[in-house]
Amino acid sequence: MKKQPDIHLNLNVRGLPLSATLAINEISNDLIKQGQPVTKLGLGQSPFPVPQVVEEELKVNAHQKDYLPVAGLRELRGAVADYHHRTHGISTAPENILIGPGSKELMFILQLVYYGDLVIPTPSWVSYAPQAHIIGRHIHWLETDASNQWKVTPECIEELCHKDENKPRLVILNYPANPHGYTYTEKELKALAKKFRKYKVLVLSDEIYSELDYDGNHVSIAQFYPEGTIISSGLSKWCGAGGWRLGTFAFPNNMKWLLNAMATVASETFTSTSAPIQYAAVRAFIGGLEIERYLANSRRILHAIAKAIVSRLQNAGFDLVMPDGAFYIFPDFAPFKKKLNQRGITSSSKLCEVILKETGVAMLPGESFGRPKDELTVRIAFVDFDGARALTAAEQIPLDQTLGEEFAKQYGGGCISGVEKIIDWLNETQAE
Ligand code: GLU
Repeated sequence: MKKQPDIHLNLNVRGLPLSATLAINEISNDLIKQGQPVTKLGLGQSPFPVPQVVEEELKVNAHQKDYLPVAGLRELRGAVADYHHRTHGISTAPENILIGPGSKELMFILQLVYYGDLVIPTPSWVSYAPQAHIIGRHIHWLETDASNQWKVTPECIEELCHKDENKPRLVILNYPANPHGYTYTEKELKALAKKFRKYKVLVLSDEIYSELDYDGNHVSIAQFYPEGTIISSGLSKWCGAGGWRLGTFAFPNNMKWLLNAMATVASETFTSTSAPIQYAAVRAFIGGLEIERYLANSRRILHAIAKAIVSRLQNAGFDLVMPDGAFYIFPDFAPFKKKLNQRGITSSSKLCEVILKETGVAMLPGESFGRPKDELTVRIAFVDFDGARALTAAEQIPLDQTLGEEFAKQYGGGCISGVEKIIDWLNETQAE
């Protein structure tokens, strides 16, 4: 097809590339098709299969073909409300739950209907800012520090809000976080909640990785700031079902107006979320022993692999603290800056490009997450391993035992070998 001139595109969309996470996946798959082996540490896709009970439920519901209510299947909204109560002590009602085709779509609609600045930390997941850009919202990046695990502090919220107290703002907090896996303690969340309440900030608490907190101790900020927090969740990360596209928002009681506005937009755009997927999701959110076991094993497998990667990176000279959850590590190649610069590698994008070309390991540059171009941070999504095989192996080991280095080496697949390749490459890299 002939390329259409850019000029006919909306100004806010003109020049925007495909989202970085999806682009790296397509680049990696194309290379593999051409016969070039790639270690896929780019896209953050769960390596684990969907729990069998949930998959069975999808099969049983394949015949569901009717349009469902715009805000979601009543039973699913109930199951999600119960889930938030059971897992994180948040009391909410089924009427406060909104179901969508992925939390990403719900986030976009939220930004569309809520008139306020978007406030996000740097680094943040790749899509929050482009969504705001497409809609035409102002974006405010909160500075964070690697030495403080890239966390948002109450001081930086105070500094931002006290200048213009009444300005409407939407803060997105993601924890355990993409792209680095760190989370907030209860004390930190309480302190942030105090500031958000003081300035009546709307908080979107992106808790899509909550079930993958390695200790299983995720705490939601909604416990401390219930009236101003929307909790975002879904099946993609903890249920291994990214491609099913099912996301959920849990609103506070006093925000029906916002839910209703979002439902209006949903009714004019995606209509309702896929019916068989919603029926199957009911089973996922109901939980039970099999799902609990699946989650406990997923956590200890990810924890073991994270430890194995972090210790290798630390031994190689990286300054890195263990993440708290999810499947991301965000190392900074700063200690090797001089020799990388001398080889002409002066940006995170160039770094990822050269590593992919010379080692076959795909990762994403820090720049995609809002970090300065010349900072040499990268995101490693440690998902290139056979999740089904690792789960079967973990099931044979009593749950109270942590999985160690041996397990990570045996089942960590491309995550371990990929990181070793990067370290070898770094050691072999000579200044030109
Ligand atoms: N959240 C995943 C990631 O950061 C992929 C899904 C997406 O970006 O749409 O890699």
